[in-house]
Amino acid sequence: MGLPPRIGFIGLGIMGRAMANNLVKAGFQVSVYNRTRQRTAEFADMGCEVAATPRALAKLSDTVLTMVSDNAAMDTLMEGPEGVMSAFSGGNTLINMSTLSPDYTSVLARKCYTAGVGFLDCPVSGSKGAAEKGQLVILAGGDKALVEKCGPVFKALSRAVVYAGPAPAGTALKLCVNLVIAQLTTALAEAAALAEAQGIAPALVFEAIEQNPVLNCGYFALKKENILKKDFPPAFPLRHMLKDARFMLAEASRRNLRLPVTAAVETLLAKSYNSGYGEKDLSVILTNLTETLDRERTA
Ligand code: NAP
Repeated sequence: MGLPPRIGFIGLGIMGRAMANNLVKAGFQVSVYNRTRQRTAEFADMGCEVAATPRALAKLSDTVLTMVSDNAAMDTLMEGPEGVMSAFSGGNTLINMSTLSPDYTSVLARKCYTAGVGFLDCPVSGSKGAAEKGQLVILAGGDKALVEKCGPVFKALSRAVVYAGPAPAGTALKLCVNLVIAQLTTALAEAAALAEAQGIAPALVFEAIEQNPVLNCGYFALKKENILKKDFPPAFPLRHMLKDARFMLAEASRRNLRLPVTAAVETLLAKSYNSGYGEKDLSVILTNLTETLDRERTA
């Protein structure tokens, strides 16, 4: 058995902070980089090395894990004289766990291949709570042998790894899973809005669902408090789901596939985003659905 990899972790946001924490707890040697340095302080306190640039982080690491917002963030971190790729070569591994587009992921996979760097596209299913508990589901794309080799790293982060095929298959699978989440969230929000409009307590919708074992679903329980209290602290920021809905529609359109419900969900998400709710949990779409009712009530 080889030595455990020295891990470099980039992106200490809602998800990355919890994930990097679990890697430290599992005993890995972890170094970190985050654009906003303030977010690295707790890791410095735990004894992790804090790198000043992505390149410096790559130099400290065998394997770099990324958990950042989007394609543009990833590009900034990978490219240029201070990017990870400037310091990575044969023997190194890059594991992207952010949700990027399949297109971008393919290009990155090719760049890594040319540079002799092992690459896995491993976005995750599960939100803040699952990340904190090390209970994510990893949707893995890339070389299967490399996925297996990274098993101990994944074990610290997840309850399961679902292997999807060569990159960008992990990302393609992630978009399918997020399609379900986007539509479940919309279904809940619309059901609560319809209940309210009819003068029925939205809590009754949850009670009715909870009483039916076929309908009762952990995801609904996760969003219950947000919907009932109309309070939306971010677990999955709406702007990320908007990005993902656009990736879904682009992938479908490229293949002449129509996704009419997803298209409608994208419109709802965009409306909420344009209302300034991008940083709130995606369940905030309820706010736009009920705003007429709320206005009438306060008039
Ligand atoms: P987040 O809290 O918004 O954190 C984003 C991270 O990306 C931060 O570390 C941020 O750095 C960094 N970043 C953003 N733009 C950057 C740039 N231009 N250059 C360098 N760094 C940049 O996001 P999150 O919720 O953890 O999600 C991260 C990824 O996981 C996203 O792709 C999301 O779609 C996916 N995901 C999220 C969830 C969820 O429930 N939240 C679940 C599954 C998958 P700063 O600290 O400097 O802003």
